[in-house]
Amino acid sequence: MPDMIDYHIHTARCGHGSGSAADYLAMARSLNLQEIGFTEHLPLFHTIDATLAMSWDELPLYIADIERLKTEAAPARGEVGTLVRLGIEADYVPKYVEQTRAALNNYDFDFVMGSVHFIDGWGFDDRRNIANYDAYDLPDLYERYFELFMEAVSSGLFDVMAHPDLIKKYFRLEDEPRALYERAAQVLAGHGVAIEVSSAGLRKPCRELYPSQTFLDACFAAGVSVTTGSDAHAPDQLAMDFTAVRQALELAGYTEIQTFDSRVRIPVALA
Ligand SMILES: [Zn+2]
Ligand SMILES: [Zn+2]
Repeated sequence: MPDMIDYHIHTARCGHGSGSAADYLAMARSLNLQEIGFTEHLPLFHTIDATLAMSWDELPLYIADIERLKTEAAPARGEVGTLVRLGIEADYVPKYVEQTRAALNNYDFDFVMGSVHFIDGWGFDDRRNIANYDAYDLPDLYERYFELFMEAVSSGLFDVMAHPDLIKKYFRLEDEPRALYERAAQVLAGHGVAIEVSSAGLRKPCRELYPSQTFLDACFAAGVSVTTGSDAHAPDQLAMDFTAVRQALELAGYTEIQTFDSRVRIPVALA
């Protein structure tokens, strides 16, 4: 799909992916993607784990890499090419909001994507920590996740929230938590924060897009805008399953998606 845009990409720098930024650009060009946004994980404040994120020393190298690629890739006037954007995926960890804000302010990102991967220090989407689910009642866990998600949206740190219902990755609720979706959608709309529609969930045990159609419909009804992403951890995952992403967007009623340049929104019509 030549008009699609992938705004969630990890390179080998994240410690759990493969491929360089240049490899991704080559793949994006071969797929005729209109635009790609790199979103390497911001290093974490609460843990040092080289399998989760690059180090603080590496962060400036990542920025320089993508800045260089942006210049190289910039299409000449009238030319069709693949635009490159500098993004970052930053964790929402309540204790470190101000440190996160300071770290993000050091660089001229095109967009900042917010994620909730940790509940009270527990990396709940990491297969290595799956035994911890036993300690929770599932509905309570969803409540806690969405509480953090809404705090993240309200923090002012983020332009867009990644994989909005990541909590369903391993265990889905029998009945979808519609009330939580609706509350989250209101908070997103109120703060002008977008959500990502991510194909990554299709490759995970939950076997559905992030967010679910019901959650996406609630976001559309509330006036929340969207980005599209694959959460690729290897070049061959770029724009993977974007047909399903497109279908979900159309079903919800979306006619445009958001792109960003220096944190300013640029809506793009879905062709
Ligand atoms: Zn993530
Ligand atoms: Zn990611």
